[in-house]
Amino acid sequence: MRANGWALLAATLVMATSAAFADTAKTWSKVARPSPGPGAAIGSAAAGCVAGAVQLPLQGTGWQVLRPQRNRFWGHPATVGFVERLGSAAAAEKLGTILIGDMGQPRGGPMSSGHASHQNGLDVDIWFRLPSRPLSPTEVAAPTETAVVTKAGLDRARWTPAHARLVELTARSPEVDRLFVNPPIKADLCRTAGRDRAWLAKVRPWWGHEEHFHVRLACPLGSDECTPQRPVPDGDGCGAELQSWLTKPTLPSPPDKPNYRNPTLPAACGEVLRQGGVMKASAKGR
Ligand SMILES: [Zn+2]
Repeated sequence: MRANGWALLAATLVMATSAAFADTAKTWSKVARPSPGPGAAIGSAAAGCVAGAVQLPLQGTGWQVLRPQRNRFWGHPATVGFVERLGSAAAAEKLGTILIGDMGQPRGGPMSSGHASHQNGLDVDIWFRLPSRPLSPTEVAAPTETAVVTKAGLDRARWTPAHARLVELTARSPEVDRLFVNPPIKADLCRTAGRDRAWLAKVRPWWGHEEHFHVRLACPLGSDECTPQRPVPDGDGCGAELQSWLTKPTLPSPPDKPNYRNPTLPAACGEVLRQGGVMKASAKGR
């Protein structure tokens, strides 16, 4: 009994420490491989991680991964499946090659630079640049951006029906919870969409995002510890909310600077990080 009592106390202490789990973005960014097992998004986009992430192949039908040297091409299997389907749809409609920016780290978690989100394997950035042929390895490593919004608003020389169609295809994808675009883009989509416009609800105005849009998937089935987002508001979002955005300065994007946020993550993320001995490896390095 007594031994059991100690074991129980020890277990309680372990739980108490792991419940307050937080680790530095630097640690998460150092992990080179995903954790084993089935895919599971854990926590939220801004405080979470992903178990059993899979890699988006560097190139496929209709898409290409940018800056592979960053090792941010990992995600929940649902995210990879979404990109593959969107790439095929874009190729079928000859929209151009979709360029995939950051997804997540091999085990998600906070990143050492840039995004506050992209942590639970469900976020993906898609560039507005739609080249007619895949980029060369040099260009992929250091790609140039195409901004479709300037301080003066939507750049009509650069914004094309292919962009509008790509955003619509994304918003119509059932696994997508929402996507973020610079407000003048949403305004133009509101203007050009026809009567079948329920998909516009998922297109959310946000700061920056003048050269890419950010897609966020809904919590997939089987990800019991995934924190869902609040539902998007009813309606197409083309009214007062959009107008309020159009009066704010929404450019430029925040720079890709070092990230010192260390959000408190769900306890399960401690397990995800430690699987496969990554913590041992970082301790050895001290
Ligand atoms: Zn993003």
